[in-house]
Amino acid sequence: MGDTQCMLTPVEVAAQCRSLGGVARTAELRARGASRHCLRRAVHDGSIERLREGIYALPDIGQSRRAAILHGGVLGCVSAAQAAGLWVMPFTGLHVWLTPTGHERAHEDCQCVAHWSEAIAFRRNRAVMTVPLALEQMAFCLGREAFFVALESALFQHKISAAEIRSLRALLPQGFDDLFHLATASAESGLESLIRYRLAAHGITVRAQVVIPTVGRVDFVVDGWLIIEADGKGNHEAPGQRHRDRRRDARAAALGYDTLRFDYALIVHDWPSVEAAVLGALRARASRIVASERMRGGTRRRKGLKPTVRAVASADRPQR
Ligand SMILES: [Zn+2]
Ligand SMILES: [Zn+2]
Repeated sequence: MGDTQCMLTPVEVAAQCRSLGGVARTAELRARGASRHCLRRAVHDGSIERLREGIYALPDIGQSRRAAILHGGVLGCVSAAQAAGLWVMPFTGLHVWLTPTGHERAHEDCQCVAHWSEAIAFRRNRAVMTVPLALEQMAFCLGREAFFVALESALFQHKISAAEIRSLRALLPQGFDDLFHLATASAESGLESLIRYRLAAHGITVRAQVVIPTVGRVDFVVDGWLIIEADGKGNHEAPGQRHRDRRRDARAAALGYDTLRFDYALIVHDWPSVEAAVLGALRARASRIVASERMRGGTRRRKGLKPTVRAVASADRPQR
């Protein structure tokens, strides 16, 4: 094929680029019938963009993916996890994965965090960004909490297989082992993962996604009586949601539960307030129980009465 001939129209070149994932090397496009002239014409036409020497992309690949390529790599670590649709903690910079033979390039507004070869893919000589690889990079780059939240999101969305979990676990330091025990596939949002992870640090275990008759499914139940809900897991509150939440709270209260509700801003940016509320509620309850035990003990001693046990109609009803 001569370089001055166009075997493909600009639209067809763009279609080939799309079939390659939206970003393609010159050699890949040429192998699919695009001559240099075709490529120049497609760029001139705006059907594709020449991001750097030898790399073409569709105009709609997104800012972060584009910036990663301009930097000399592809999205990596938390940026790749986010692009894959995982719930991730707020983070700074654009995390870019570079091959060991690559090099960083200057580009406008560069806030990139480079990741080189600390990843499984290079050891296997396979430079394809995957969810397990993004998680592996996150573990080393951002630590346990950010890793755990993204891991649970991957599990919930079925974006990581059991075999991939096993490989990932084998690759990470032992200090991550407990997170694989703690992780479940039931956390609908990272807010739930965060609550569970951070309460676990206090030795507080929670039951997640508990179905309570007349109330419905609640995010967490602590100690059999304290409901914790992470509100606003979507980006917006559905109409009537406030009312439905209040009704759930009322029904839960009727069964003897207390409910604490927290939103994204509190859980992510003001955890001390959330922690204080949960610990305070648990402490207050514990001291009420101690006080009531003392009072009952005193009454029994004075009157010689046996302690009374209140009947609980439902197994889920908390003991007061
Ligand atoms: Zn990173
Ligand atoms: Zn950069």
